Amino acid sequence: MKITEIISGPLPSLSFEIFPPKVSTALEDVKDAAKRIAELSPSFISVTYGAGGTTAGLTLELADAVKNEFGVTALAHLTCLSSGRDVIKRQLDALREKGIDNVLALRGDRPADSSAHVRDFSHASDLAAEIRAYGGFCIGGACYPEGHPESPSQKEDILNLKIKADAGCEFFTTQMFFDNNILYNFLYKIREAGINVPVVAGVMPVTNGSQIKRICALSGTALPQRFRQIVDRYSSDPRAMAQAGIAYATEQIIDLYANGIRAVHVYSMNRPETAKRIAENISEIIK
Ligand code: FAD
Repeated sequence: MKITEIISGPLPSLSFEIFPPKVSTALEDVKDAAKRIAELSPSFISVTYGAGGTTAGLTLELADAVKNEFGVTALAHLTCLSSGRDVIKRQLDALREKGIDNVLALRGDRPADSSAHVRDFSHASDLAAEIRAYGGFCIGGACYPEGHPESPSQKEDILNLKIKADAGCEFFTTQMFFDNNILYNFLYKIREAGINVPVVAGVMPVTNGSQIKRICALSGTALPQRFRQIVDRYSSDPRAMAQAGIAYATEQIIDLYANGIRAVHVYSMNRPETAKRIAENISEIIK
């Protein structure tokens, strides 16, 4: 099923994300996590793509398992920065062969050592156009409510987002954010800029307090004072941090649905227990 059909359906959408392991020997563990997340009957499960295409085969294998073994719609991520047209075509052929309908078209991060040079694609919009020309896929893209870290201004970032929508992206999934007002302001601005495709709100339940400040600094995500207090207080106690992080994410999700957001994507990071606790917390809200 296409993601655009799911998120325009009558019920609110709740989806989760998994990522492939770095080594294929760990694949069975991730598959097991995916199976347990699939048992929660999410609207879809997305499978990330390792930087520079390093996990192409494993992303495909996991997306295949999500759809064809566990019976849940799969969204396969695909990055283009260091891949040629031939590699992208092979990946699309393989996704097609497995019956995967949905692709998240991404540029990918620039490697710190700049060893990977740009091949045929400079921006995610180039990849979206390529996938659209290939035909048959529902195409999504990434968006950044607080602006992409490389963008000189949010205004410029939104102009580039419009190019991405015009190139073929039929929905966007957001970068994580911890203050819902940031998303509401962003939605207002993109609608004003003529971007009318649905936006899936990305929410991260923070279960590891020591990592989050570094991740937020790198991604340009603001940590509100209220959440910073929680991290400062509980990051040295993993169980307390997980409980507080899940409660904070739950509150964020309820507020999003209450304010008319139809689709929430949870960055559950291969943790079925986290996904389960979130799903249980909002079970009456999404039914
Ligand atoms: P783009 O849309 O190309 O944007 C990147 C920058 O270029 C922005 O500053 C933008 O304003 C600018 N830009 C865009 N188009 C143009 C243009 N036409 N002209 C000039 N400037 C332009 N990374 C992975 O490696 N694997 C994953 O699976 C993965 N999944 C992700 C999922 C989500 C929901 C998100 C939010 C991010 C994900 N990322 C992933 C990270 C992503 O690859 C990085 O954030 C990357 O730096 C940008 O990718 P993009 O697709 O947003 O790029």
